[in-house]
Amino acid sequence: MHELSYATSMLNTILETVKNHDFKNVKRVSKINLEIGELTFINVEQLKFAFEVISKSTICEGAEIEVKFIKPYVICGNCGYKGELDVIDDLLISCPKCGSPSSLKIEGGREFNIKNITVEFEDE
Ligand SMILES: [Zn+2]
Repeated sequence: MHELSYATSMLNTILETVKNHDFKNVKRVSKINLEIGELTFINVEQLKFAFEVISKSTICEGAEIEVKFIKPYVICGNCGYKGELDVIDDLLISCPKCGSPSSLKIEGGREFNIKNITVEFEDE
């Protein structure tokens, strides 16, 4: 399940970020906003579950995860179509205008971005 590897890199990135900012009194991360490209085919429920498991006893334990999906953006080399693509399944990706599957250039849709996190601090 590739959600686990995404969850792992997500956790590492957040822990690194908090460390690099030298936040001394972070109590916990309460919320994580993600932007995920539809072409990653991430199952959000599995991602959340994997994250819950691996973040136990870290500052990310119990963090709420919110996901915004990004539609893939394609350029068709056959008819020149430029725009978003509705993903039907992971096998059938073809141009919405001319139906050509072979000449599509995928410009976006594989993102996995941590947009921002909400951090709670210990009371001084
Ligand atoms: Zn086309």
